[in-house]
Amino acid sequence: MDKIVEHARSREVESERGKRQLIELRQSVLEQKKKFLLDQAYAEYNPDWCDYARPLRDENTIRKKLHNIDERLQIIERALGRIKDGSYGTCAKCGKQIANRELFLAPEQELCKECFKNQV
Ligand SMILES: [Zn+2]
Repeated sequence: MDKIVEHARSREVESERGKRQLIELRQSVLEQKKKFLLDQAYAEYNPDWCDYARPLRDENTIRKKLHNIDERLQIIERALGRIKDGSYGTCAKCGKQIANRELFLAPEQELCKECFKNQV
């Protein structure tokens, strides 16, 4: 088998694995969001619990936390979109391949290590 075919096949395997990981990740973030919202509702009906938890539960903290969760979900959705259009595993900035190891650790990753470092 020539190298190009082999390479394409390994990207395909990588995408498949990324997809499974991303779907699981999305599920767990959605669970997290649900739990968070339930906790908020619970706090409203349980003043004692709310008193105890109040320092962490002001409006801004809640909004920020929800924003972070939604942002995470969007990143996951984008990554799933890249799997569909075939650009998964390619850096969104410089177009280089993202190392498989990086994708394994963070399947939603859209930048290569270099670009990620330069961004911060
Ligand atoms: Zn890059």
